Amino acid sequence: MKYVSTRGASPELGFCDVLLAGLAPDGGLYLPKEWPQLPPVHEFRGMPYAEIAAAVIAPFVEGEIGTHALARMCADSYATFDTPEVCPVVPVGRTASGAPLSLLELYRGPTLAFKDVALQLVGRLFDHVLEERDERVCILGATSGDTGSAAIDACRDLHRVDIFILFPDGRVSDVQRRQMSTVNSANAHAVSVPGTFDDCQDLVKAAFGDTAFRDEVALSAVNSINWARVMAQVVYYVTAHLAAAPHGGPVSYTVPTGNFGNVLAGWVAKQMGLPVDRLVVASNRNDILTRFFTTGTMEITDVVPTTSPSMDIQVSSNLERLLFESMGRDGAAVARMMADFRTDGTVSVPTELLDGLRAEFDCGRVSDAQAARVIKRVYESTGLLVDPHTAIGIGVAEEHGGDPSVPMVALGTAHPAKFPDAVEAAVGVRPPLPAHLSDLFERTERIEHCDATLDAVEAHVRAGLAAR
Ligand SMILES: *Cc1c(COP(=O)(O)O)cnc(C)c1O
Repeated sequence: MKYVSTRGASPELGFCDVLLAGLAPDGGLYLPKEWPQLPPVHEFRGMPYAEIAAAVIAPFVEGEIGTHALARMCADSYATFDTPEVCPVVPVGRTASGAPLSLLELYRGPTLAFKDVALQLVGRLFDHVLEERDERVCILGATSGDTGSAAIDACRDLHRVDIFILFPDGRVSDVQRRQMSTVNSANAHAVSVPGTFDDCQDLVKAAFGDTAFRDEVALSAVNSINWARVMAQVVYYVTAHLAAAPHGGPVSYTVPTGNFGNVLAGWVAKQMGLPVDRLVVASNRNDILTRFFTTGTMEITDVVPTTSPSMDIQVSSNLERLLFESMGRDGAAVARMMADFRTDGTVSVPTELLDGLRAEFDCGRVSDAQAARVIKRVYESTGLLVDPHTAIGIGVAEEHGGDPSVPMVALGTAHPAKFPDAVEAAVGVRPPLPAHLSDLFERTERIEHCDATLDAVEAHVRAGLAAR
């Protein structure tokens, strides 16, 4: 399998190079040259999650990662989840048109957010490829909370990877900070920086821009544009299908969205032959995607803080992959569109293209107040506590008026205990941490501190690597 860039001006690469590169040299995102086809979905029935994962992923890594190595990495990755089902599906009610609605719990991994599903595997893939190449990398990232904790947990104790995550001093939740700072591994560094998330992000960008430093420490990233993350997320669309439609037939999915990575994985599953009916994009008040799917115009506005902070973003980078496909894989045209978007802060797609997208995607938006009502209603009718991100998915799914015979699956992206204040405010019940994290507040924290300058960050990383 070879991979191409969405901007059409980078050489084709194999999977391992795509994994380590992240972004293509022309600024584009990698996609496989063609979509491998899944066997009929019922053939997966009864198989454990990790085995389905290995089967779905195999064609994407063919010729680059051996079958046994892939099976072992999938088994190890999903053994870190707190249930043998890995990503369970539970009924939560019905949609507006009467279709059965269930919740796909993607938050049963070590850091309680759906990012674990992809990152647990991506960390192991990194280590495997680096071992074969006898190389090391140093992962540097900035976090507002979820990604950093999932990335640190995924890289803990890997032999070939060091990871430094910058977070804004006092601006991540106690649970999120402790998930990063209590990982007792010599290769994992939670670094507190005075300032905001954007300051941390700018420092990371500046470090990547310093070519000499980048080469010296072999800088790398595991952000949401990495193809391997999308690939790993395709798997749970398949397993959720088995649970929601035991007798086959199409299934629709509603996905709380930020960077469009999660819902894109559903679209990929459809290209691979999974019977997917509608893909519903669920936004909070930061609704650039809902506006785009409604009007065909993508326009940046200011980010408003909400109770679902992991969706408080302005630009959904993974949308570029969908646009590339919808534009007949014309990389030059995508590159022009992205350049216009960058200069003008707005871009519109032709009507035919929008009609094509709307043939597959629906969208909806839920305010903080509505999300709180969903949390309360779900708790009262099922006894299940859900977090505000998950509530946005359920809220949009409930309003969906699709075919009543097609089951709807709403993707749950964070455990309620990750956002306990918002959940408690909505229902008056404080969600407890699951057993594997119940002693989180007794564990010893190891926080490193660093000034908010590029020199300080580079010196901090060098010192951390030297002390290894
Ligand atoms: C990252 C995240 C999202 C958004 O996912 P994308 O793949 O960026 O669309 C939604 N909910 C939670 C809890 C997250 O951590």
